[in-house]
Amino acid sequence: DKAAVEPHSNGLRLSNGHTSVVASKQTEYLLDRNLHKSFPVVTGGSGNYLYLLDGRTVFDATGGAAVSCIGHGNKRVIKAVSTVMNTGISYLASTFWACEVVEELCKNLIHGTDGKMARIYLTGSGSEAMEAAIKLARQVFYECNPSTPRINFIAREGSYHGNTIGALGMSGFPLRRAPYEPFLMNNVHHVSSCNPYRQRADGESDSSFVARKAAELEAKFQELGPETVIAFVAEPVVGAALGCVPAVPGYLKAMKDVCHKHGALFILDEVMSGMGRCGTLHAWQHEDVAPDLQTVGKGLGGGYQPVAAVLISSRVVNTLLNGSGQFVHGQTYQGMPVQAAAALEVQRIVQEEDLVDNVKRQGLYLEQCLRARLADHPNVGDIRGRGLFWGLEFVKDKTTKEPFDPKLAVAQRVYNTSVSTPFNMTMYPGTGSADGLKGDHVILAPAYNVTKEDIEYIAQVASDVVHQVFRKLGNL
Ligand code: PMP
Repeated sequence: DKAAVEPHSNGLRLSNGHTSVVASKQTEYLLDRNLHKSFPVVTGGSGNYLYLLDGRTVFDATGGAAVSCIGHGNKRVIKAVSTVMNTGISYLASTFWACEVVEELCKNLIHGTDGKMARIYLTGSGSEAMEAAIKLARQVFYECNPSTPRINFIAREGSYHGNTIGALGMSGFPLRRAPYEPFLMNNVHHVSSCNPYRQRADGESDSSFVARKAAELEAKFQELGPETVIAFVAEPVVGAALGCVPAVPGYLKAMKDVCHKHGALFILDEVMSGMGRCGTLHAWQHEDVAPDLQTVGKGLGGGYQPVAAVLISSRVVNTLLNGSGQFVHGQTYQGMPVQAAAALEVQRIVQEEDLVDNVKRQGLYLEQCLRARLADHPNVGDIRGRGLFWGLEFVKDKTTKEPFDPKLAVAQRVYNTSVSTPFNMTMYPGTGSADGLKGDHVILAPAYNVTKEDIEYIAQVASDVVHQVFRKLGNL
């Protein structure tokens, strides 16, 4: 699958038929959070592979941050997007115009919710979807009573909900919040995450662990005044903040019950864990605990277009319809035909090729392969995840679970090693998984159409990388 690269008048020609525009100087001008770095230049992609200007082929085992759910360069999606572009519709404001492809996408999404969701609000990113969900949740109570006392949200530590001010305010992610703390909403209150590796007492059963979490949420409602709480917000499987930590069985139902007991909404952020990533179309379907509002993103458009959405239950829709019937929101780039065309085709491929089932099967095998190779490694504290969404948490001491000194940048080292020769595979790094400030993990999140052989390859390379990184660290 390695593609040879040769010069071409438009940039580069790859032996696999792709032509790419050269952008070798791009990173000198692009403002990125890694201001001091330059990045390898990618010139093309196909399936699991990214082709680099330096001639290397990299196996993409993460699809960015769990985005590329059907791999790169899918011809069907490229055609669907081109077809819409070729209609001549460059842009439609979704506040004024309807469009068939947008309608079809919404219908398709509603169909996948087992009748639990009634409407879709399309956005251009996961953060925007969270912003819309925050405002929708507040509006539910405002419609009934404009002077409603409901002004508080409860979210969780060890969570990431996006980078805009509202979504960041929800996020329990100290490293990302720190510079902007003075601007973040002061009516978001955090309870602990559901992270058995770090929080479960010795011998504690799932049910008593869950009961402890429900009691903590109940106490937070009581502290704030139950009548002041708009909603509780959680990721069913925590992504970037902790590294693929699934909720303990029974947890989501227990938390939803606390919310509903107090008339508050239960919101799930499935931007990273949803749309098939965890082996069910929606992560909540694993235990059939449908939320009142749900955000989805990455796997919706598989990276082919910037597209995300809020899925809205009939309870919420009916309240809005019985009130003003309006959602006072709207953004220029939402519900665009070209975004919808990409997302619709990605979803059709996922459905026609039964890829969610493949995620479930290959996910179980990935777990098995990772455990076989890494469970005994002295610096691999935890291997956790679901579907094709797996995290490895690294520790200095496996018995005490002591994290590494952040100055060692362990997760970044693992990433740097994995994308370099001879490994040439992506692993998505993250920090803060131990206590918000310390702790290192990496995420593996390959495309849904991986084969058994791909899984073995990913697990073997991941294992080789981890062994090499810690061998070298030991020699420092
Ligand atoms: N919620 C979750 C759970 C996420 O993982 C992310 C992105 N990593 C977001 C929200 C924000 O999405 P976006 O980057 O598309 O704004």
